[in-house]
Amino acid sequence: MGTVTDYFGSLVFDDRVMKATLSAKVYASLKKTIDEGTELDIGVANAVATAMKDWAVSKGATHYTHWFQPLTGITAEKHDSFITPSPDGGVIMEFSGKELIKSEPDASSFPSGGLRATFEARGYTAWDPTSYAFIKGKTLCIPTAFCSYGGHALDKKTPLLRSMEALNKQALRILRLFGNDSVKRVTSSVGPEQEYFLITKEMYDQRPDLRFTGRTLFGAKPPKGQEMDDHYFGVIKPRVAAFMEELNDELWKLGILAKTEHNEVAPAQHELAPIYTTTNIATDHNQLTMEVMQKVASRHGLVCLLHEKPFAGVNGSGKHNNWSIATDAGQNLLSPGATPYENAQFLLFLCAVIKAVDDYQDLLRISVATAGNDHRLGANEAPPAVVSIFLGDELNAVLEAIETDTPYKGAEKTQMKLGVDVLPKFNRDTTDRNRTSPFAFTGNKFEFRMLGSSNSIACANIMLNTAVAESLKIYADRLEGVEDFETALHEMIQKTIKDHKHIIFNGNGYDESWIKEATEKRGLLNYRTTADCMPHLLDKKNVDMLTSHGVFTEAELKSRYEIMLENYCKTIIIEANTMVDMAKTQIAPAIESYAADIAKAAAAKKSLDSALTCSYETGVVRKLSALTDRIASKAEELETALISLCDAEDIGAESIMIRDTVLGLMGELRVACDEAETLTAKTYWPMPTYADLLFGMK
Ligand code: ADP
Ligand code: MG
Repeated sequence: MGTVTDYFGSLVFDDRVMKATLSAKVYASLKKTIDEGTELDIGVANAVATAMKDWAVSKGATHYTHWFQPLTGITAEKHDSFITPSPDGGVIMEFSGKELIKSEPDASSFPSGGLRATFEARGYTAWDPTSYAFIKGKTLCIPTAFCSYGGHALDKKTPLLRSMEALNKQALRILRLFGNDSVKRVTSSVGPEQEYFLITKEMYDQRPDLRFTGRTLFGAKPPKGQEMDDHYFGVIKPRVAAFMEELNDELWKLGILAKTEHNEVAPAQHELAPIYTTTNIATDHNQLTMEVMQKVASRHGLVCLLHEKPFAGVNGSGKHNNWSIATDAGQNLLSPGATPYENAQFLLFLCAVIKAVDDYQDLLRISVATAGNDHRLGANEAPPAVVSIFLGDELNAVLEAIETDTPYKGAEKTQMKLGVDVLPKFNRDTTDRNRTSPFAFTGNKFEFRMLGSSNSIACANIMLNTAVAESLKIYADRLEGVEDFETALHEMIQKTIKDHKHIIFNGNGYDESWIKEATEKRGLLNYRTTADCMPHLLDKKNVDMLTSHGVFTEAELKSRYEIMLENYCKTIIIEANTMVDMAKTQIAPAIESYAADIAKAAAAKKSLDSALTCSYETGVVRKLSALTDRIASKAEELETALISLCDAEDIGAESIMIRDTVLGLMGELRVACDEAETLTAKTYWPMPTYADLLFGMK
């Protein structure tokens, strides 16, 4: 296969291929579209389409697809072949600019939350030229946005691109104020660290809960969990190493910058981190990474679990969203600069983020809300559901000095006046020690740690980009045209620190006392579940902000509210139904047959010697019998609770009923079954146990 440098990006229609296959004029025009967002004319599109098709066909492709990200959270594709009949009875391979730019999949079955009546089946997909096309199998995949005929976004990419545009627009206004006239574009970048579990396919197949819901709904605690910390960064098992090797190769061919891989804290848990890139590309790449992980795993007889909480009692999986903003000249705006002026600019962008995170805590919480992630947040393995910011001691001291107009010790200057002092270069090591913060400054970027492992990173970045755009807009509105720029700037930074310092927390976010302090003393929001936070998507302040930047229309927000809550409800209903089914058809019968055999054994013993007490057998049978009774009654209660969901007035009410009754009953049913597991002979238990799943890979 050659070396990595030979095959990296070999399945991508990237800049190298464009340069080699397009005329100079077409290339320049496409490049302008990619870099500056200018519109593409049809002539150029035709030329690009032909070059793309020729390249794809030369790589063995026969089909093309508009690859998009509907609100189901996974990617979708509908394949069309390139063939067109030719008059001589044969075919030629054709692909036009029109087909490249736009397609009309029959989209009636994708969730739209009422935006597109099902009879109006057609939505359309539109090419996103900023994300390279690539080949998957025999198909040329063209990254696209997905909209309804009325122009409403039905996907995650459209609002993400809009949010990047909003951020670009407002950030440019700020840069101009600092005299920077040459920058053309500001983009946000993301490096998402992806956690996942690997288990064997053989065991996975024996667990209906894993197959239907992606997580175990039953399972007693194994004798050993993660308490020894011997898995984290541990030696990688040969079978896993072979998986990782092939995964890297596949990702590299797709131009994905897979960089770091290691074992995670929980047994059977691993992580992959790519090198960061532009947000929408990082989003596409992360979706692809998740897909390729699952495919490669299956080639190795393994299953890759991307669920946030596949196993109770051991750490779940998250996704760290490392986020920064940079100019087209390569300047990271979250990097402290070398000159006083650069530092003032850095502090302003830093403040914009602090203000954004504080003002829109709810939107950030909402952006990571799923039924799966509710298991993680606040469970002492992931940040709490309370959003706060970690800055580190050094930066914190700088902000305090500015706030109180007192000298900042570190800078050896008398007063921390912007535009006068030079901030020290931050040492990355001093800022990155706190792993418990949901939103941590790590030297030149922020790490948003609340995302669930299966989440698309689009949602979090839409909210982040737009909320920061809003802060920047408020700043620019205030500063543009002001006479004494430096004083106004200083005052504004000072005011931001005063108004928003309650969101800054440098302590241990896993500590129970923090939640008390955060909610009672600081007034921070604590939305523990998806059902709690989701209604706030439609709060006036949020709708106003998101619509004013053109990122969502009000109708789009309403539809997203519906879809996300529907998703929450459906997920838990499927889990509950799976539990009832497994309890009734697998677990209870297994316990019964074991209890019956034990009873038989006791009877046999007694027939040999009537003086035998058989107290062991009697005890086990009694306990198991009580447990099967409990399991049966809990399963019935759960079924009744599920039926009563039909009475819910709307999706909001249904989600509250699920939160308040269904989840509790699922927990109770599980406790009974898990207890029975510890009393039942392993040979009778109808599925692999936690010990098998977590430690059983050969
Ligand atoms: P860890 O968080 O495990 O210590 P790193 O901080 O080294 O790991 O890297 C985490 C991720 O942050 C990587 O994907 C990396 O590419 C990304 N990253 C580094 N710099 C930036 C940046 N300026 N903007 C966005 N992401 C970045
Ligand atoms: Mg990290």
